Amino acid sequence: MLANALSASIMGVDGMPVRVEVDVAFGLPGLTIVGLAGSAVLEARERVRAALRNSGFEVPSRRITVNLAPAGLPKEGTGHDLAIATAILVASNQLDGSGLARTALIGELALDGSLRPVPGAMALVAAAAGAGIAQAIVPAENAAESAMVGGVTIRPAARLGQVVRHLAGVETLRAHRANPQRADPDAPIDAPDLVSVIGQRVARRALEIAVAGRHNLALTGPPGVGKTLLARAAAALLPPLTEVEAAEVSRIHSVAGVADARATTSLRRPFRVPHHTISTQALVGGGPRIRPGEASLAHRGALLLDEALQFRSDALDALRGPIDAGIVTIARVDGVVALPARFMLLATYNPCPCGWFGITGRDCNCEDGVRRRYQARLSGPMRDRLDLVVPLESATSGHGAPGAAEASARVAERIAAADAVQRRRAGAPNAELSPDRISRSAGFGPDALATLEARGRQLGLSLRRLHRAGRVARTIADLDGRDAVSTQDVDEAIAFRPKELAS
Ligand SMILES: [Zn+2]
Repeated sequence: MLANALSASIMGVDGMPVRVEVDVAFGLPGLTIVGLAGSAVLEARERVRAALRNSGFEVPSRRITVNLAPAGLPKEGTGHDLAIATAILVASNQLDGSGLARTALIGELALDGSLRPVPGAMALVAAAAGAGIAQAIVPAENAAESAMVGGVTIRPAARLGQVVRHLAGVETLRAHRANPQRADPDAPIDAPDLVSVIGQRVARRALEIAVAGRHNLALTGPPGVGKTLLARAAAALLPPLTEVEAAEVSRIHSVAGVADARATTSLRRPFRVPHHTISTQALVGGGPRIRPGEASLAHRGALLLDEALQFRSDALDALRGPIDAGIVTIARVDGVVALPARFMLLATYNPCPCGWFGITGRDCNCEDGVRRRYQARLSGPMRDRLDLVVPLESATSGHGAPGAAEASARVAERIAAADAVQRRRAGAPNAELSPDRISRSAGFGPDALATLEARGRQLGLSLRRLHRAGRVARTIADLDGRDAVSTQDVDEAIAFRPKELAS
């Protein structure tokens, strides 16, 4: 007999509905899964068999064929287990299939018949909802994020037996009630407060500008000068996500399986700090089962590369694409998958291996060649994608006025105001302004434009560099609450540009 159930699979960060068709027929006993199933899906054979038996059901001693449709799309993950097990019960007359109409079944089965959570539940339920379901049965741990998809009744379950009794009409799985209250409106952020940063006036200013317009910022300087502290302080300065952005971010984190590290309704912007030993794949995503990398987990937030020159150079170069386009594209045999990855880049690094090159009053004891090779780890194209580069002085050098430093909350207020202006103007941060918008409609008067062009000629700056400086100048004016960009704004922006390597 033939039966079918609805499930879903992940492709990139999107879900797609999958129809699980099961045929139980006379023939050599066995369970075959067809329809471009990945290895985790094929292992469903063992899990489903054991879960059925240990839940008190019979595994038919017949030839069981499971087809995952559409057959042309690759299926990954363990989320089809529940749909496969249920459809087998219907096809072998152990369950009436009428309860399966307009129901999505999502979840991995443990051998004892309990349900285990799956990554990407939000995207999976959203895909099933698009296929016209009224209810989705999901593992209890996935209920909260599944409920983010509106218009579908979410019924959490703990065991296969419960699901079957619900579908048979013997008992009812209670619907999950979404908690309308935000889980963490002002959850404490694990970020240092700027009030604890002594001096560093220029770096603080650059940080404020960078966060306000979501420009890429690098902080360089000797060890112990506070580069990391400053960069980490950015986490508390980023303005909150909009509701639409929050849903998008939660979905990506859900697919990557890191949702529990983040409340699904959080409006906090992601702040990712990968270790420098990270592989290129883990940084930008990919793999046989495509998973979002750190670049996508930082989408709509910030990606901090602490000790950036310690990262593998191929990993650094792989960030060029997402920095330019806001997406990671991954080629696979069956097509190209695009993962969203629009983030603000923060980087810290020492100017040389010993850390003291170019610091007043200190001697660098690195050999020229060693130092040059070290600096070259940040390739030219990568350097060209930084907007602001700030050398930090050692704290004892007397820079910066003494006295109480401004707290992060105050700086965050100015940033939020400038952010609101940018959203009204272009619907996006200044870092995303297209080149023609910079000059035409973003408040650049003839003076400011002439200054930008003149500096470009004097300093031999590339067009890309001028566009980047123009966006930074726009942000400087926004922080000051001015519509028009002044020549001073342009000069300040250009002063922060990455300089050619000193030799
Ligand atoms: Zn040195």
